[in-house]
Amino acid sequence: MVKLPIYLDNSATTPVDPRVLEQMIPYFSEKFGNAASRSHPFGWVAEEAVDYAREQVAKLINADPKEIIFTSGSTEANNLALKGVFEMYREKGNHIITVTTEHKCILDTCKHLGKQGAEITYLNVNDEGELNLQELEAAITPKTILISVMYANNEIGLIHPIKEIAAIAKKHNVLFHTDATQAAGKVPIDVQAEGIHLLSMSAHKMYGPKGVGCLYVRRKNPRVKVTAQMDGGGHERGMRSGTLNVPGIVGFGAAAEINLKEMIDEAARLSKLRDKLEYALMELEEVHVNGNREHRLPHITNISFKWVEGEGLMMAFNKDIAVSSGSACTSASLEPSYVLKALGLGDELAHSSIRFSLGRFNTEDQIDFTIQRVKDAVTKLRDLSPLWEMYKEGIDMATVEFKAH
Ligand SMILES: *Cc1c(COP(=O)(O)O)cnc(C)c1O
Repeated sequence: MVKLPIYLDNSATTPVDPRVLEQMIPYFSEKFGNAASRSHPFGWVAEEAVDYAREQVAKLINADPKEIIFTSGSTEANNLALKGVFEMYREKGNHIITVTTEHKCILDTCKHLGKQGAEITYLNVNDEGELNLQELEAAITPKTILISVMYANNEIGLIHPIKEIAAIAKKHNVLFHTDATQAAGKVPIDVQAEGIHLLSMSAHKMYGPKGVGCLYVRRKNPRVKVTAQMDGGGHERGMRSGTLNVPGIVGFGAAAEINLKEMIDEAARLSKLRDKLEYALMELEEVHVNGNREHRLPHITNISFKWVEGEGLMMAFNKDIAVSSGSACTSASLEPSYVLKALGLGDELAHSSIRFSLGRFNTEDQIDFTIQRVKDAVTKLRDLSPLWEMYKEGIDMATVEFKAH
């Protein structure tokens, strides 16, 4: 019997790998020094640990350690990238290009910059979540300073053609930032070979601790600069002040090193489990996988269960299986996911969608249990549903009006 509840929400956060935790522990009480204290061994020990972690993190994306600016996570790294570039390159222009399916922290930062005089182009995606690169190139103007496109989408797992986007940016002398929070540690990333100028990542999405991440800022060809958004002691080459979270950074480094070593094997194992789950659930009728299934992360699948009320479906098993729904709970209202809507899903179908995101500690037994529970729940709910009955009777559902929940 599998132990419940089962965690299949690894795109929201991951547990800290015990090997990572072990590395972190000494840096809380025993080696507690401030990495900026240059005058005594307590500081030197902390600084040495940070330097080592910086190398581990840099290696994960083939960067130079000097190009890593530690932050509190990807939200901060994305804010620093967008606001920092906007302020630093203001004389060159005020135009930023991004995509409608980006994470909220990119979209909200763009909205904020819009009020400060930035012009933002939000590119649409097709029904598989993909960008049109001709449209991207056509959107560039002499005022364009930055293109920001996520490496992989957090809801559907789609991987954007990063190298091609970077080449377009380079051709037009525009900076290219990518939010790689979901991709880092899951698929190989090489900032040199791919031509990335700025990149955000976060430890807690890759089996490290919460509250730590980084912004990669290229130092050569071209030398990129961002205006600090946090002023103070001039830490992190003046781009991000504040006493460094030494245990967190040590954990981030350890997590990055493990990911680099185990990524390929882990991706193979998880994609096999993910495919097993997907194929089994697709045996049900009227089930659809959202997003392109070829260019995507190994561990995510987002599935719509037509004619099932999403909230009811979640409630049928969410005490035993932790997943995310196609609804984003914003304050009091249950909004359908804007990412799924950007793919052209209606409110109904977006609400009936579930993201399963697998991780390092999931087992085949857990997936087998999940398949059974979800299949049972969908079948049971459909048996109770008048809509399903109408659909089975061959009534043209396009003529049936129903209210969004
Ligand atoms: C989780 C996530 C973020 C936010 O990262 P934090 O470190 O939690 O601030 C940003 N972008 C994407 C794509 C994410 O998945």
